[in-house]
Amino acid sequence: MVKRSRSIIIAGAGVAGLTSALCLAKAGFRVSVLERSGGIEAFGAGLQISPNAFHILSDLGLQKQLKALATAPDCIRLIKATTGREITRVPLGETVVARYGLPYLVIHRADLCQILATACNDHPDIDLHLGHRVVDAVPHANGITAMSYQNRKMHEFSGRALVAADGVWSKFRTEYIEAKPPVYSGFMAWRALLPAEQVGQKRLEHTQLWLSPDAHGVTYGVRRYNYLNMVVVVKEPETEQKWDLPADINQLQNRLSGWHSDFTDLLQVKAKWAKWPLYEAPASKRWAIDNLALVGDAAHAMLPFAAQGAAMAIEDAWVLAEKLGSIDDTNDALKAYETARMPRAMRAVRLARTNSRIYHGSGPMAAMRDSALKIMPPKMLLGRQDWLYGWRG
Ligand SMILES: Cc1cc2nc3c(=O)[nH]c(=O)nc-3n(C[C@H](O)[C@H](O)[C@H](O)COP(=O)(O)OP(=O)(O)OC[C@H]3O[C@@H](n4cnc5c(N)ncnc54)[C@H](O)[C@@H]3O)c2cc1C
Repeated sequence: MVKRSRSIIIAGAGVAGLTSALCLAKAGFRVSVLERSGGIEAFGAGLQISPNAFHILSDLGLQKQLKALATAPDCIRLIKATTGREITRVPLGETVVARYGLPYLVIHRADLCQILATACNDHPDIDLHLGHRVVDAVPHANGITAMSYQNRKMHEFSGRALVAADGVWSKFRTEYIEAKPPVYSGFMAWRALLPAEQVGQKRLEHTQLWLSPDAHGVTYGVRRYNYLNMVVVVKEPETEQKWDLPADINQLQNRLSGWHSDFTDLLQVKAKWAKWPLYEAPASKRWAIDNLALVGDAAHAMLPFAAQGAAMAIEDAWVLAEKLGSIDDTNDALKAYETARMPRAMRAVRLARTNSRIYHGSGPMAAMRDSALKIMPPKMLLGRQDWLYGWRG
């Protein structure tokens, strides 16, 4: 019988790559994570850790660290942007704990990556190699060899499989699996963190979702309620494929001039605004080929309107490790991962698209939406997420 290597290589140390490393190490593998940046990227803003993702992070022993840095909003208030009136509220907080047995948290992406990176650094079977850009991979009879560049020096890493966790602009998706590049959605997310003392405590306790025909806004508290995370999504032409584009707040203020002052007052607070162009990965029939598998945004980058990008990456990591740990043949294991994950992740992709139409509805459609939301019992609104939040792998 062939003795298979217990080593796995991961390209990318975002949420998908770091969580994959922890899940695979827990399943008994030795893991090398190669990240092109010289440090764990401190960029980004708020991410949602819904119960389906929390149970995995909790199983990895990160419950205490998460609770120390994350916040637990008590509800999502849906608000009509022009009038500032509440349409309805979806209960979170204790209601989520009672329904799913686990909390719904929001956390700054940099804090989550730091928690995961610290756990990886503390694990004897995980090596985190920063400043390594993976440039190629060659499958062979014993597994796969990845080549990386660090300080203009070439390095080789061999293992049983390569996990491509290299994000929305994944090199491995376009070069090995699906040639089509990611598609710009037409939406730009404007983001800022506002200091808590400038916005008032009340605003930090719940998530607010402001709806208007051509834009929507989201706010919630992050970093132990020390900051208000603000995101405004508007239609805007494509510019550069970068996470943090410079943003002129005057443009946004003009764009939202018809919105209620409860929201527009926040745009007056001094803060660093940046723009994040939203892309989707093209649908692909495969996520795994020749000892290589895509995880996270590399496989299924989605619009953030279902707040499930990070959660789906965390679920991918869990399922991939379970399949590689339990199925001897690597390609059979990767195929089993793809089969298990694709329908669920693609359902989340579709939900995010549907939400974009609901959030930006206008005229009679918006009036119907608001009436339907008002008559629906709040617990029923939460219950619509059972398939997402109730998943336990
Ligand atoms: C800077 C940044 C900010 C973000 N901000 C938010 C946010 O505010 N809210 C939100 O919902 N989502 C945000 N996201 C997206 C969110 O992190 C993802 O949707 C989700 O967490 C899945 O992450 P991922 O690990 O699949 O991809 P990513 O988070 O994109 O991580 C991919 C990693 O791979 C590395 N990489 C890429 N190519 C290579 C290569 N060739 N070799 C080695 N390493 C490589 C990248 O440097 C990066 O660290 C952000 C992502 C990034 C990178």
